Amino acid sequence: MPDKDNSTQLVVIGAGPGGYAAAFYAADHGMEVTLIAPEKNPGGVCLYVGCIPSKALLHIAEIINESKHAGEFGISFGEPQIDIDKLRSWKNEVVEKLTGGVGQLSKQRKINYIRGTANFVDSSTLRVIDEEKKISKLTFKNAIIATGSSPTKVPGLSIDSPRVMDSTSALELADIPNSLLIVGGGYIGLEMGTVYAALGSKVTVVEMMDGLLPGVDRDLVNELSKMLTGKFSEILLNTTVAGLSEEKNRIKVTLKGADGKSTDRTFDKVLISVGRKPNSKNLGLEDAGVEINEKGFVIVDGQRRTKVPAIFAIGDVVGEPMLAHKASHEGKVAVDAIMGKKTVFEPAAIPAVVFTDPEIAWCGLTETEAKKNNLEVEVVKFPWRASGRAITLGRTDGLTKHIIDSKTGRILGVGIAGPRAGELIAEGVLAVEMAALASDLHFSIHPHPTLSETIMEAAELFDGQSTHFMRARKKPPA
Ligand code: FAD
Repeated sequence: MPDKDNSTQLVVIGAGPGGYAAAFYAADHGMEVTLIAPEKNPGGVCLYVGCIPSKALLHIAEIINESKHAGEFGISFGEPQIDIDKLRSWKNEVVEKLTGGVGQLSKQRKINYIRGTANFVDSSTLRVIDEEKKISKLTFKNAIIATGSSPTKVPGLSIDSPRVMDSTSALELADIPNSLLIVGGGYIGLEMGTVYAALGSKVTVVEMMDGLLPGVDRDLVNELSKMLTGKFSEILLNTTVAGLSEEKNRIKVTLKGADGKSTDRTFDKVLISVGRKPNSKNLGLEDAGVEINEKGFVIVDGQRRTKVPAIFAIGDVVGEPMLAHKASHEGKVAVDAIMGKKTVFEPAAIPAVVFTDPEIAWCGLTETEAKKNNLEVEVVKFPWRASGRAITLGRTDGLTKHIIDSKTGRILGVGIAGPRAGELIAEGVLAVEMAALASDLHFSIHPHPTLSETIMEAAELFDGQSTHFMRARKKPPA
């Protein structure tokens, strides 16, 4: 608990996976911690309106898609009967269970959780507004800013209508629209599109760039695009939304293609998912002396320390990649720095997963980055049509690729497309972080028959061929 004079050793502002992980770690190391966030329990965007509810709904989408797919094996389940109220309640229960559990963990650690918001008065004082709107002051020895991010609003497009959603309202699952336009072909748009398409919506995606998931490895995205073409009604690339208005219970949208021609279309609902912006406004950062960059991200050093030595910042509010596990890791680095430990945030591999069907996941160096930096790498690819496990699942639409240092054989990056790619990528993270060689992956015995064997066999390709896949170009034996 804070002292009577309302002071605390460490205050953490925001209780997402960055903030609560930092608070828990600090408490576990004997610090007296105050954690402030407006939600009933810790959890932040990730647990309340991000990672967790979206994955609960994607699980349902997977069941629906798998049961349809089973027709190919001679098993028919018929059309799914969807009870949307029950589905919504189940998703909400998942969120409550997890956030309630995290709340318990916070209490067990004797963390002072204040339900409210905070902003800086100066470099050692916060103004705290609790849930009853009572205002108090809290002085601190150290502070960690972990206020996360919010959906970007596009002027003119984000109109005030229940038919125009952001990721948060889309996750509420108010209904299943007949037609849904998704503006933005990033991971949040594609994940939500996968959910609504499985539930029966006709989904159209517009993306202003020439491919889905801009910036992500094209080999991986190609595997996904093939599958999404069958699931979504349309994927319109090189297309922008020039205007949007509400008309007779529909949303009229003006789409502008690469040829400069405009077409008007109408949809039942529109989901705008064009990115996220840091929650760094209205925090009084200027009063504390904390600096932000031109995009609003808090500027931090390798230990996540801001320009003010006692104040740290972590998670989405400090920049890309905006991912929960990156936020949690930064939280621990910041707490270690506060405790005076030698530490730095310098991961070789931050995994990223797109939980579509198939999933795609990658970590470490990408082929594009290797080319851009003229690095001497060898790229090996193991197609899942050669994997026994993938064939037993009827899912040969996958690929495992490694980016390997040509001279040393060191694994620099791993990319996987296919069902459960998100689970498989953890081995790639370990390989990149531990500076494993292709031979380490090749000669570590992997269980059979599993999809993990694709990681072993892709590494085997670096030495020439693999047991189940022969590539065209043979490396001469050493
Ligand atoms: P957040 O989780 O954003 O939490 C910020 C906290 O700060 C909140 O509690 C907020 O209320 C609080 N806060 C803000 N201002 C104040 C204030 N002034 N005072 C007190 N508290 C304040 N990431 C993944 O890794 N995997 C996924 O599968 C994934 N799926 C996602 C799906 C969706 C739909 C979305 C939107 C995001 C997803 N993300 C995913 C991203 C992930 O949610 C974020 O990267 C992560 O939540 C960032 O954690 P954080 O701790 O930085 O902040």
